[in-house]
Amino acid sequence: MSKETFAFQAEVSKLLNIVARSLYSHKEIFLRELVSNASDACDKLRYKALTEPGLGGDGFKIEISVDKKAKTLSIADNGIGMNREELAETLGTIARSGTEAFVEQLSGDEGKDMSLIGQFGVGFYSSFMVAGKVEMVTKKAGEDRAWRWTSEGEGEFTIEEAERSGPGATVILHLNKGEEEFLEKARLSNIIKTYSDHIGIPIVFKDGKDGKDEEALNTASALWTRPAKEITEEQYKEFYHHAAHAFDDPWMTLHNRVEGVLSYTNLIFIPSKPPFDLLQVERKSHLKLYVNRVFITDDCEGLIPPYLRFLKGIVDSEDLSLNISREMLQHDPMLAKIKSGLVKRVLGELQKKAEKQADEYAEFWNTFGAVLKEGLYEDVANRDKLLPLARFHSTHGAGLVSLEDYVGRMKDGQEAIYYISGENRDQLIKSPQLEGFISRGIEVLIMTDAIDEFWVPAVGTYAEKPLQSVTKGTADLDKIKSSDAAEDKKEDKEKTGEDISLLIAVLKTALDTNVKDVRVSNRLTDSPVCLVASEEDLDLNLQRFLKQHKQLDAISPRILEINPGHSLIRRLTQLAKDGKGTDPAMTDAAFLLLDQARVMEGEPVSDPSAFARRMAAMLEKGLVA
Ligand code: ADP
Repeated sequence: MSKETFAFQAEVSKLLNIVARSLYSHKEIFLRELVSNASDACDKLRYKALTEPGLGGDGFKIEISVDKKAKTLSIADNGIGMNREELAETLGTIARSGTEAFVEQLSGDEGKDMSLIGQFGVGFYSSFMVAGKVEMVTKKAGEDRAWRWTSEGEGEFTIEEAERSGPGATVILHLNKGEEEFLEKARLSNIIKTYSDHIGIPIVFKDGKDGKDEEALNTASALWTRPAKEITEEQYKEFYHHAAHAFDDPWMTLHNRVEGVLSYTNLIFIPSKPPFDLLQVERKSHLKLYVNRVFITDDCEGLIPPYLRFLKGIVDSEDLSLNISREMLQHDPMLAKIKSGLVKRVLGELQKKAEKQADEYAEFWNTFGAVLKEGLYEDVANRDKLLPLARFHSTHGAGLVSLEDYVGRMKDGQEAIYYISGENRDQLIKSPQLEGFISRGIEVLIMTDAIDEFWVPAVGTYAEKPLQSVTKGTADLDKIKSSDAAEDKKEDKEKTGEDISLLIAVLKTALDTNVKDVRVSNRLTDSPVCLVASEEDLDLNLQRFLKQHKQLDAISPRILEINPGHSLIRRLTQLAKDGKGTDPAMTDAAFLLLDQARVMEGEPVSDPSAFARRMAAMLEKGLVA
């Protein structure tokens, strides 16, 4: 087959444009990326050889060599290799999600864009930071033909037939002027030690005539098999970058070996930044599963529950069968045991962190709390471990509070844990439904994650106290010891008590089926009205959420609560008493109050033109009077 030319996917061209002109200060990371790919390719072949022993599957090695005259640097592996189609597909498009995110973030500002290289990692394409021309000669294990991929990074690449003795891939970099440091053994050795020492496969420098001398550059034992005390933080970090394809620092590292009926080692990390696919519907986990050092899969459903999908790293066990397929493995009872061990360990470590380093824990919570809360809903067995980990904003101040904190400062007579839910914390805190609580000094939790609508009803109580929405049902605040200010208002309410039922009757008649009921509010102090859901209905925010997601046809009519202490309500009460209840102005006032309550909920008014007409009439009256 003759040489064929292909165009890069537009995103790749864009990426290469930035990479090739990069002044990125850590250009040496290209070597880490190529070694990482080589090691992955060996892992893949090792796994494939389990079922196809003829493919080899041992004696893996990554060889680095240089040709100072030709100014080339080569990285060769004897891994799985690629065939022609795979070459055209993977080295012409964006293969990794990190790279995709990189391209999405490109702003056109050169300086800014370059700094993103380190943040996202651009894999194979990072070679073009140091090389004007890159080749890959590769043969796929089990196939006969070898191929050469060549590109100068400018819009296109070529593929032609080539020679290669065994399976694997050799990447040849034709280094740019000024990049000669990458021809020096000492420099290369240093880079490998810094970034790739954790790789379990030997990385050697081939030197001397015909490349006969070999010098080992790395320790060549998988990092997780080494004793934790011999591993530096830097090494953990590099391993994390390699295993997770992530470039932030791990927030927490958990490296331990479990021995007993079941033995396994885990080296897992909690990232400090959210992974790109954290909120995707697939809720995929990316922990890598090894069996006896053989990489099996990074897509193992049964290894970790979806609410811990932010975990990165590896789990290696001798007790899983190497000879069953990936699909079968997911149902192995041993795997379920590993899963429950991992969950216990992770939740235990989080608990320790939450107790000892609240500030650091808050960082974790802000990043992953919404995901962890999914566990409250779906992992009933671990609910008692998850609830103490949950943190909330509240009316109590800027910091995060736990349910334990909350219960510890509940008021005398307070029987429920109160919360309000919605999308926006700043707006929620101004909700009229909160007034009575705030004035009595009763703390209310502010919930702004969609998942809150699901776990809260599922969990129901904490420390035997019901979780109660302030926008649903009645709020029996009078039982709770009030502050003096609230007492004054209470007296006001009592004074107007006898006449208020008259106004309620007027409002009910006017609003008819637009409301479920009209009643005196216990939760208002400053606003005249607010809406609440009745005890038997879904909470206000949940209804809105379900309607938005087309799970609910219409929002059910709500209860309009009125504040008898408010001067407007008093005035209306007086008018009702004076026999003006059926005046058109009274009906207008009723609808304006309802619309006002809706607006406070962030909802549109029900009939904008009627609203405008009523508003104009009222303004006119008010201004003329
Ligand atoms: P990533 O490694 O994150 O997938 P890269 O851009 O570095 O992204 O590599 C793209 C793809 O090219 C890899 O997923 C792999 O399929 C293939 N590849 C890269 N290097 C090698 C190699 N040495 N041997 C076999 N396949 C490779």
